Amino acid sequence: MGPMRYAWASATDPGKVRKHNEDSVYPRDLGVDESGFIAAVADGMGGHIGGEVASGIAISTVADSDHLTPEETLHAANLAVIDGILDNPRLAGMGTTLTLASFGDQGALTVAHVGDSRAYLARDGTIEQLTTDHSMVAELVAAGEITPAQAKVHPYRSVITRAVGLERNIEVDVLDKPLEVGDRVLLCSDGLTSMLDDTNISAVLAKGDDVAATVWELVDAANAAGGEDNITVVLIDVVE
Ligand code: MG
Repeated sequence: MGPMRYAWASATDPGKVRKHNEDSVYPRDLGVDESGFIAAVADGMGGHIGGEVASGIAISTVADSDHLTPEETLHAANLAVIDGILDNPRLAGMGTTLTLASFGDQGALTVAHVGDSRAYLARDGTIEQLTTDHSMVAELVAAGEITPAQAKVHPYRSVITRAVGLERNIEVDVLDKPLEVGDRVLLCSDGLTSMLDDTNISAVLAKGDDVAATVWELVDAANAAGGEDNITVVLIDVVE
């Protein structure tokens, strides 16, 4: 098996309710890359200025992370956001999710994440959530205290239990997944997954439209369902 290529596109949209977009994404736009390609989504918090700044710092760190592993990049982004607060104490309390996917030689995918921005793998008409949300409701579901359906409408559904920028030591989840030609990898902020369930997302991905069309189909579907939060997606197709 030779080196794989990755066709990708990203989209970000403030949604229907919020004036500001506190999400950030890497890369912007669309293209085709060989192995070594990196994609990431960050969902900032801490007031609209702090949220935009925190997710922007995290994504800038990703853009400059050539020599780092995904896990090292998450730790570097964390320290960069903390430094941003030291430089401007009015931003105290800002933080961000960060979900990063690194695409290696011959389909080696590594995902590192903190927070509730997700990575999915679409293969053979179904999707698998690769990441575990670091959120209060995900912990309650895992403990059997509420159902997934209750989690969707829980008043604390947007409360995350881990974030980049809040403390110097963070726990980063890292997973590896071998990819095959035909796979689609989706990174997204919770503005997508709070509006669409996995079945809805899978249906859009299974249509098989090209990445540039599909990312906006996902954004449009989340907006049609209410668009209550900023919506950000990166879709990466594994192509020969
Ligand atoms: Mg969000």
